[in-house]
Amino acid sequence: MSHYDFIIIGAGVAGSAATYHLAKEHRVLLLEQFEFQHVRGSSHGDSRIFRHAYEDIRYVKLAVAADEAWRELERLVDDKLLYRTGGIDIGHEDDPALANIEKALQDQDCPFETFTPNRLAQPFPAFELKRHHRALYQADAGILAATRCLGAMQRLAVSRGATLLEREEVTDIDLDAPVEVKTQAGRYTAEGLIVTAGPWLKGLLKDLELPLSVERQQVLYLEVEDGPIFGANRFPIFIYRHENRAEVYGFPRFEHPTAIKVADHANGTEIDLEQRHFDLDSNKALETTRLVQEILPKVTSKRVRFQTCLYTKTPDNHFILGRHPLHPNVVIGGGFSGHGFKFGPILGEILAELARQGRSRHDLSLFEPNRFVAGRVDR
Ligand SMILES: Cc1cc2nc3c(=O)[nH]c(=O)nc-3n(C[C@H](O)[C@H](O)[C@H](O)COP(=O)(O)OP(=O)(O)OC[C@H]3O[C@@H](n4cnc5c(N)ncnc54)[C@H](O)[C@@H]3O)c2cc1C
Repeated sequence: MSHYDFIIIGAGVAGSAATYHLAKEHRVLLLEQFEFQHVRGSSHGDSRIFRHAYEDIRYVKLAVAADEAWRELERLVDDKLLYRTGGIDIGHEDDPALANIEKALQDQDCPFETFTPNRLAQPFPAFELKRHHRALYQADAGILAATRCLGAMQRLAVSRGATLLEREEVTDIDLDAPVEVKTQAGRYTAEGLIVTAGPWLKGLLKDLELPLSVERQQVLYLEVEDGPIFGANRFPIFIYRHENRAEVYGFPRFEHPTAIKVADHANGTEIDLEQRHFDLDSNKALETTRLVQEILPKVTSKRVRFQTCLYTKTPDNHFILGRHPLHPNVVIGGGFSGHGFKFGPILGEILAELARQGRSRHDLSLFEPNRFVAGRVDR
């Protein structure tokens, strides 16, 4: 039986990031149930939005830290991972979310511009907003090449001496220190454990009864007319906050030469992991396409491909980052509620700090696991 300083369960963005951080000074084992960079979890695909624009200052601060951390990772692996296209948040002119974002960005000295519908069409001609819309533009936003980001983190972890094992599903854990983890292939012990199992987190830490739900999401690649105006130099990533709860987002032509990737953040389907399928939900696809076309009339209804992916959601949509309430040597990272990828390297830093010394230099007041389990577990 091999012994490590830390074992990490799950090689998505959170677990991979924690591994390369800890591997700098410790003996680390990362266990992944499927093959590395598989498509059954949440971190696959070729693009994720990076932005500072959040309503809560704590996320803006974290995003600013993540910005620097992505640059550092790019330097360490000598690869480009973040493509700055700029980003626009679009909504009703009275939408309080836009006002809150504006305030939070101002507070953190993050540069942005606001646009009326007519003015936005000058730099970004693909957009045709309604008269009641307002847009907030941030030049620092962009696209993370997600699968390459994951590959970069995992390569860095290996070059720092970590052991990464794929196709090793963790089937049993003894959380008492030192922890013991069983897979079909073997047994491993460690001083500390980090559980970053994404949609499988609730099942692995059953006793905590974490209130996590898993949602199936689908992303569509829709062909565009007038290709040049959808290029990354003239078309930023966008989030369209529709009055009736939908939150459609999209990317420039980046992964596909003639199509843009779009999805509806608020229109997932809650699923049971055992029943998961990879087929298209045509009704939802039609609805997403219709919403995108409201502000982007040159996006056609022709779908060139689609992909499915999972969100693991908490009731308040804030992350879970903290120590296990009963086992201080176990750290939990999950419930990223469909917006965790952009923080990847910082999530890794936080998880590593929590595993090593039980606290982080970052403000984790939104993310305490105890907000869900306090009162239910004996301490
Ligand atoms: C369609 C889509 C679009 C998104 N867009 C954005 C975006 O634009 N910007 C953004 O910031 N975020 C975005 N997100 C959210 C972001 O991708 C996720 O928050 C993030 O990838 C979650 O990572 P994770 O490491 O927690 O989970 P995962 O990537 O699911 O990783 C968990 C891993 O644990 C492994 N595992 C589970 N159980 C076991 C076990 N028993 N033994 C061994 N291994 C195990 C799994 O196989 C999996 O590989 C999006 C998500 C989706 C689905």
